[in-house]
Amino acid sequence: MKTEAVLERQLPGRVSTPAHGRALIECRDLGHTYRSRTGADVPAITGVDLSIEAGEFVCLLGPSGCGKTTLLNMVAGFLPPTEGRLRVRGEPVTGPAPERGVVFQDYSLFPWLTVLGNVEFGLRMAGSPAHERRRRAAELLALVGLEAAANRYPFELSGGMKQRVAIARALATDPALLLMDEPFAALDAMTRGALQTQLLDIQARTGKTVLFVTHNIGEAIFMATRILVLSSRPGRVVEDIR
Ligand code: ADP
Repeated sequence: MKTEAVLERQLPGRVSTPAHGRALIECRDLGHTYRSRTGADVPAITGVDLSIEAGEFVCLLGPSGCGKTTLLNMVAGFLPPTEGRLRVRGEPVTGPAPERGVVFQDYSLFPWLTVLGNVEFGLRMAGSPAHERRRRAAELLALVGLEAAANRYPFELSGGMKQRVAIARALATDPALLLMDEPFAALDAMTRGALQTQLLDIQARTGKTVLFVTHNIGEAIFMATRILVLSSRPGRVVEDIR
């Protein structure tokens, strides 16, 4: 029998069940409408009520144009909510922050920096000393299996390698949350499969919480511990499958 249950028997009414930890991401009636200067406004996401706990691997799944990227961009702090409330670790999201690492579909590496320079970038911005940046970047390149490519430039890499650099870069500031927007959509099927497996391995080793956008049902089933299915625009969560 659990300790709380034993104590409850001995001290009835005096034992409180421990509260669950605060959700890492909390959305209440959250929505975003794109305001158009010329045409009609575009409601992209509406009425999203959601709590995501630390350690979950959550896929946002839905048809193209249903608002997945909009929701992810709100959590990233790139877009403000136009309705409702969004909190990360209990604090309202007011902009991007190092606790939220982002990986985009199009790699978005800095072409003038080497692989090492790209991975070190966030740490440089955060004012981390050179030796510390080097150590952390080397560790992350080992994690994604790219130690040998440290001094190469993005144009010398395959799509899969670029995306592994982007993942290492997003992890550099040790974020609590990894936000990924269709990160493997542009890759061929074999590379995609390899990166999916590698990402699951990285998540298992780092314990990061992942919010992952995809329109691929197979990918969501393979990757996620929880799938949130969005309706067509304006997107709302119509299924929450654990
Ligand atoms: P998804 O990621 O599911 O494909 P998005 O979040 O990119 O969907 O887009 C949701 C809807 O919002 C789409 O209809 C899209 O055309 C519209 N939209 C996205 N960005 C803008 C914008 N900057 N201005 C106006 N409408 C937009």
